[in-house]
Amino acid sequence: MAPSSHPFPLPIVDHHAHLHPGAPGLEATRRFAALGGTHLFLATQSYRPGAPGSVEEYREQFETTVAIAAKVQESVSVLTYPVVAPYPVDLIGQAERLGLTSAEDLQRRALREAARFVEEGRAVALGEVGRAHFPVPEGVREAQERVLREAVALARDVGCPLVLHTEDLDGEGYRGLEALARQEGLSPERLVKHYTRTYRDPKERFGITPSFLAKRPLVRQALTDPGPWFLETDYLDDPQRPGAVLSLETVPRRARELWEGEAGAGSSADRERQLAIPFVEAPRRLYGLSFSRPEPFRFGEPGGGGP
Ligand SMILES: [Zn+2]
Repeated sequence: MAPSSHPFPLPIVDHHAHLHPGAPGLEATRRFAALGGTHLFLATQSYRPGAPGSVEEYREQFETTVAIAAKVQESVSVLTYPVVAPYPVDLIGQAERLGLTSAEDLQRRALREAARFVEEGRAVALGEVGRAHFPVPEGVREAQERVLREAVALARDVGCPLVLHTEDLDGEGYRGLEALARQEGLSPERLVKHYTRTYRDPKERFGITPSFLAKRPLVRQALTDPGPWFLETDYLDDPQRPGAVLSLETVPRRARELWEGEAGAGSSADRERQLAIPFVEAPRRLYGLSFSRPEPFRFGEPGGGGP
């Protein structure tokens, strides 16, 4: 592909990725930057085998996420924003080890710890919170719902978005989350459905913000959506599960395809308007963050990435 004639004027944002402290993750962010990527939301994860067993272990985990974000920022100049919370799936193993009551209590305390990170400006959202994406025992499911409700209340109190890990949602699923948000006094828009892999019309989303997996067909559907919406890879540099998710290069590649007219339509002004939704408007509306690119980027130039 020849270098595109019109330099790309917008930032390029991946709204959800995970990285380990080691070198492979940093290498992935270097490629992300070389292809035009500018901003990354970095979700926490357990960096050790098994779920954390204490609030101290969660704090340590969140500190690690913040440290990785700082490292990425200083090494490859990708502005990186930590998102922290106890992972809902952790509750299952914790319930087996500690009993359900203590496990739920641990999740709640870890959530409050995560909210402190947001209050201190060290993280920008609570996430991932929600439910296991597979069937779990009834007691665990109910505990997850109670923890989720507390997370919604905390997001309201500290004034941040809540990044949701759930099963794939239909209209009913979105409606249930909207009801929960309203009961707790949080705008439904501040709930972000991470890993959205089925496109639903805004009418069926009841105000919840989708973060679409950056697969080509889904991105094409999203393009005509008024938003707010995000794009993400859910990239995971887990050596145990290589290729389990999209590569960190995906969002910049999609941006390029759309900009160069392969998948997009209309004028470059139209395309700029569409791509400003996930890369500029949604970050501003949900996070209050003003993302921009210091100077327009030429796709396909040396250092500007290959095909
Ligand atoms: Zn994730």
